[in-house]
Amino acid sequence: MSSPRRDDAPTVTTSGPSGHVAFRRALRRAAPTIARPLPWIAHESPWAVLVSEVMLQQTQSSRVIEPWTRFMARFPTPSSCAQASLKDVLTEWRGLGYPRRAKSLHEAARVLRDEFHDVVPRDPAQLRSLPGVGPYTANAVASFAYGVPAAVLDTNVGRVLARAIANRRLLPREARTLASELLPRTNSAPFNQAMLDLGAQFCRSAPRCDRCPVQAHCAWRQRGGEDPAPLSASVSRRQSPFEGSNRQLRGRVMNALRDGPHSRSQLGKYLVDVTAPRRAEVLAGLVRDGLISRHAQTFSLPAD
Ligand code: SF4
Repeated sequence: MSSPRRDDAPTVTTSGPSGHVAFRRALRRAAPTIARPLPWIAHESPWAVLVSEVMLQQTQSSRVIEPWTRFMARFPTPSSCAQASLKDVLTEWRGLGYPRRAKSLHEAARVLRDEFHDVVPRDPAQLRSLPGVGPYTANAVASFAYGVPAAVLDTNVGRVLARAIANRRLLPREARTLASELLPRTNSAPFNQAMLDLGAQFCRSAPRCDRCPVQAHCAWRQRGGEDPAPLSASVSRRQSPFEGSNRQLRGRVMNALRDGPHSRSQLGKYLVDVTAPRRAEVLAGLVRDGLISRHAQTFSLPAD
């Protein structure tokens, strides 16, 4: 995709400290108008923020709202989640997919209960020691729960950095450095949130530059050229189709087992459109990942 350059646009430079200042100012001005009403934003519980960030991995925010609300009502603290069985946690995960995240979150809750006095740490390094918490999630929790000045760099932010700030494809280290340089030292959490909102609402895979509130400070918009975002660091590649994928088949099995144990032949009716070897492979994979249990020919969600 080529840049939709405006011929009448003033020429501006966004690279370098002065460009960063102008971009920051423009984004801060726009922040109230682009904010999405998401229930976990500015939530007072760091655990609520951690749960939201784990759910947001690989899932759009609109699909997270309902499961997050349900999960927090059932498990309002790390210890309440830690005391529950994995089966109960996987049951509350319904609608989200990628259930390995639920298993990791359950393990993280047990670490928080046993080693952190039921408190989510504020240090990104300690956060990264929790199961299922990578650099993005650690920085997001540190920033949004505690106001730690840590740059949040996901696929949305990666697109903004490549297009608006650098106007070139970024290597992973360059993207991390640029994200840190751009981050203001004060009020960094609202700035991180505004970057996410900008990427989610305007600087999407197919960007909406005509309505973008920072277009006057966007290097790609001003200078033109090929879209630098698709192959830039942190920008996720197009996913393979869900229809017919192992993800879809695993989801069908998990959904069936949320209603109770099923025999292999009973599960077969949820997998009628796949071959017997693939059916066996899907079930074996779920058992191997610890997401379902098998006793003789009966499958169920794991008790612990
Ligand atoms: S949506 Fe905004 S930030 Fe993204 S490329 Fe277009 S003008 Fe730039």
